[in-house]
Amino acid sequence: MKPIGVFGGTFDPVHFGHIQPVLDVCHHTGIDEVHYIPNLLPPHRDIPLADARHRWNMLALALAQYPQLVADDRELKRTGQSYMVPTLRSLRSEFRMRPLCLMLGMDAFLKIQSWYRWACILRLANIVVMQRPGYAFPNRLPPWWTQALEPNLENLYRRVRGRIFHVEVRPMNISASELRRSLARGMDASKYMPPGVADYLDKHNLYTFAGGGAN
Ligand code: ATP
Repeated sequence: MKPIGVFGGTFDPVHFGHIQPVLDVCHHTGIDEVHYIPNLLPPHRDIPLADARHRWNMLALALAQYPQLVADDRELKRTGQSYMVPTLRSLRSEFRMRPLCLMLGMDAFLKIQSWYRWACILRLANIVVMQRPGYAFPNRLPPWWTQALEPNLENLYRRVRGRIFHVEVRPMNISASELRRSLARGMDASKYMPPGVADYLDKHNLYTFAGGGAN
């Protein structure tokens, strides 16, 4: 059965580094439905600079031209910290038999052992790791990673959970924190994000010094 992609993030703001690698994975795997799930309260970082409503509106604008990328507000509707395990459980109850693929940039994947109940993640979903400039594939892998590593991409359709895939994507050297810093200095960052997002943050004065600065 066709896998469902799951892509969580703070999206503060959403940028092409969130979109192009996922489109590359879709291209390589045939996945045609990826749920973009903005968090309400990210557990491992400062609270987002833009509030949830703005981050959601920007995400919806960014994804509007990509029918296979779906904005999904399930974490915004939950209270408390936005842990991934309850999110995957709720997706699993919706898509009982379909492979779920949690898509992670290499930076996020390298930190996964610090996530709340991280060992449950592979019981609920597969993981697709996408490279990100500045974060190398480690030379020595921990045993849980080696055991779950799956070289054959076709198995994405056969395994509903439990496997780790590494998919080659075109490197995108963009980060939201760098964009926030540039915007706070009054720089034009519009080429790093879909035009609707650049217009939105201009209109709402987001990430400028007057609009609250950067972190
Ligand atoms: P920040 O710089 O504030 O940490 P970010 O740009 O990393 O933000 P997040 O919303 O924290 O964006 O990331 C959500 C997901 O997107 C993570 O899995 C992260 O690895 C991935 N991601 C973000 N930017 C890129 C990129 N340029 N290439 C590949 N993956 C990326």
